[in-house]
Amino acid sequence: MSSPLPPSKGAPARPASQAGRAVLFPEATDAQWADWRWHQRNAVRNLAQLEKVIPLTPDERAGVQETSSLFRVGISPYYLSLIDRDHPLCPIRMQSIPVRAEARVRPGELEDPLGEDKTRPEEAIVHKYPDRVLFLALDTCSVYCRHCTRRRITKGGEAELSKEQMRRGIEYIRRHPEVRDVLISGGDPFLLTEERLEELLAPLYDIPHVEMVRIGTRVPVCLPMRVTDSLARLLRRYAPVYVVTHFNHPKEVTPEAREACERLVDHGVPVENQAVLMRRLNSDARIIQELSHALLRIRVRPYYLHQMDVAQGCEHLRTPLAKGVEILQQLRGHTSGLAVPHLAVDLPGGGGKVTLQPDYVVERGAHETVFRNYKGERYVYPEPEELDCSCPYDAVWRERRWG
Ligand SMILES: *Cc1c(COP(=O)(O)O)cnc(C)c1O
Ligand code: SF4
Repeated sequence: MSSPLPPSKGAPARPASQAGRAVLFPEATDAQWADWRWHQRNAVRNLAQLEKVIPLTPDERAGVQETSSLFRVGISPYYLSLIDRDHPLCPIRMQSIPVRAEARVRPGELEDPLGEDKTRPEEAIVHKYPDRVLFLALDTCSVYCRHCTRRRITKGGEAELSKEQMRRGIEYIRRHPEVRDVLISGGDPFLLTEERLEELLAPLYDIPHVEMVRIGTRVPVCLPMRVTDSLARLLRRYAPVYVVTHFNHPKEVTPEAREACERLVDHGVPVENQAVLMRRLNSDARIIQELSHALLRIRVRPYYLHQMDVAQGCEHLRTPLAKGVEILQQLRGHTSGLAVPHLAVDLPGGGGKVTLQPDYVVERGAHETVFRNYKGERYVYPEPEELDCSCPYDAVWRERRWG
């Protein structure tokens, strides 16, 4: 950047108090801690390593053992350093350390809860909606989330796409002019080398009908040091690239996470957040509101609040549908509209996402509609007399645009 940008309001003068780091990884040097590859190399991946740093509960110990053949464990030292060592319901802990319930697969729970594999014309492509596709680039993550519903992929075995699979994915998009939006996910695309990421972004940029790219990543949450200037500059070269990240609890919005998100935004890369609603982790309006506010302070927009998918081993994290609606009702009107995400339910079996919201309509008449507002007061909205909503100028404008 040509001139340094001023810090945004409320930015901490220096990085996080690193109390967790001092306890868990006292031997790590500052240079190592700032190096995302060090975090990858030193990620905790098994019971023995985990027990060295966190006193596990019996439920967690059994959880790690019983899920070992189902889904891998992997936690970056950074994310581990945020864990409350004294409380099993710490949201960082619940998202990264398995418990016994995760090993239980219940009737109706699906390996492919969103029915993605039947709309997967290429290894790399899930094409479910008319104008956008999901591009699955790799199977690795900086932290393996206990609520991951794409664990059939992230449990390993699919790895990074071969050059051939990547080429076929890009070819598919080139052959489908209706695709104007490509959402790159996996796994976590920010774990690719910049060279590999560019091999994906550059050809997509060259396809005229691809208008935008989104990258789904948990790196700003779990491995924020990965968001280097050079990565941000790379993304900016292929604008419009939107980063869609995945913060679930305000505890995750640390000074390090802030630095990562602000770096992206300062480089002209908008950042949106998709949270997953999880029972006893963030299933409370106060937590979701605080998360939204913390995100907006670091210039990240809350986008979706996802109802938990019906995925294997995730039953214990699911909330009743009414809970999400109740949370939205406690936000809408009470705080900035920007702080209110869409509540999305991705329908089991591949129906795609639908949204749920509180119903503010009390009575629907032909000439007027009675609403209740956020305070529960009644208001009447009258219908206009003229009902014709066609836009005749549109045909003219379409023909000549600005010419
Ligand atoms: C969620 C999702 C998208 C993107 O949906 P938006 O509502 O546009 O954010 C695209 N493809 C698949 C398969 C998805 O699951
Ligand atoms: S980062 Fe995303 S893909 Fe990876 S384990 Fe977590 S939820 Fe799954």
